[in-house]
Amino acid sequence: MKARVPWREKKYRPLSFSAKFGWRITPEGRLALSLGRGRGRIVLPLPEVRSRDGRPVSPGDWGEIRLCWDRNGRSWSLHIAYSAPGDALPAPVEGRPTVTVAIDEGVINPMTLAAPLPDGSMKVLVLNGRQGRSVKRYRNKAVARLTSRMSRCKNGSRKHRRLQAAKKQVEAKTERRLHDFDHQVSAKAEKFTREVHETWTEHHQTVSGPETVVGVRLVAGDVRGIEQNTNKKRRASRSTRQQLSQWSRGRQEDFLQYKTGLKLEHISEAHSSQTCPKCNTRTKVRGRDYVCKNKNCGFWCHRDAVGGVNIHTLAVNDGTFVPDPDLRVEVTYRRSQAGWSPLQRSLHAYHQDVLGRAGTGACREERRSAQNRATPASSTAAGVAVDCAALSDDPTTRKGAGRASAHAA
Ligand SMILES: [Zn+2]
Repeated sequence: MKARVPWREKKYRPLSFSAKFGWRITPEGRLALSLGRGRGRIVLPLPEVRSRDGRPVSPGDWGEIRLCWDRNGRSWSLHIAYSAPGDALPAPVEGRPTVTVAIDEGVINPMTLAAPLPDGSMKVLVLNGRQGRSVKRYRNKAVARLTSRMSRCKNGSRKHRRLQAAKKQVEAKTERRLHDFDHQVSAKAEKFTREVHETWTEHHQTVSGPETVVGVRLVAGDVRGIEQNTNKKRRASRSTRQQLSQWSRGRQEDFLQYKTGLKLEHISEAHSSQTCPKCNTRTKVRGRDYVCKNKNCGFWCHRDAVGGVNIHTLAVNDGTFVPDPDLRVEVTYRRSQAGWSPLQRSLHAYHQDVLGRAGTGACREERRSAQNRATPASSTAAGVAVDCAALSDDPTTRKGAGRASAHAA
């Protein structure tokens, strides 16, 4: 008896036409959308599709087409999906020189990528997940607050309904932000992979001819299942369990696979964060830094960077650790999302203060030009340092010089 009819009936729904069956190109070069057997079809002039960088996309690369009604514009539109296979990185194939990019995934740093360079050193990129953690924390606190208020009012009351709507709004908003965050993480990982691929292609082409194609192998540590560790003794704490359950590793992996066009492999990452990549000694890690307990070795590195380097070793050597005494690791830190770090913010305040006191033509920068100083290039630790040096040397540095130094970094 409590069942109610929907508040509003749907008048329109998008019609989808799958490739090869739903739509086809007629011999006259027009687009035909099939409405099923025994019914007429919709025939339209062939639309012109351009990819995001302006290149025309031929109908051979089109996928599903949807015919949608734009309620605000009061018109029909075709939504055409297309694939851009030219963007995919070459897969590792037998007989093709291959570079392995290892990924260590974590809750604090969503992805740490490690790849060798032609000069023998390891290039490591640590992506910081601060922004994602803060969004999750905000959601957990807001949802907890609303849930506790809801528990105090009657089920289905007006107050209850309003609180429920507020909760849904918070969840929807944070979900959008986390979605964007995962895109930011995977975009930076993709950029790293493409840079490594480019370096190796250049190297191999100078060695063995300009037609050489370098394949890329993406390998990640297999962490599936740690959420399900129900062993009482080894069970994670309540807050750690919450962090693990909200870890959007799978979506980040999917985005990365989609963006690079590669298939991600998973290998066992047992002891990859404990083993010293230089001398093969095992050390239990506490905190964010790895310090080898072997006194003769004294290897020191960022914890996740060690994990990335070890996963790379495991992937290349079929699951065994091979220590490398001459290992050189070059670590870069990047925040996943644009924005200033506390250090950059305080440097900026200092810089503005100096400009304000300097007199003689110099004055505080406008907000817009100041924003430009935080270019993505200056988000690495080295970038900040160089930026800082340039600013403190010359107190009259104006926006142009500040920007130039950021790019130089
Ligand atoms: Zn060591």
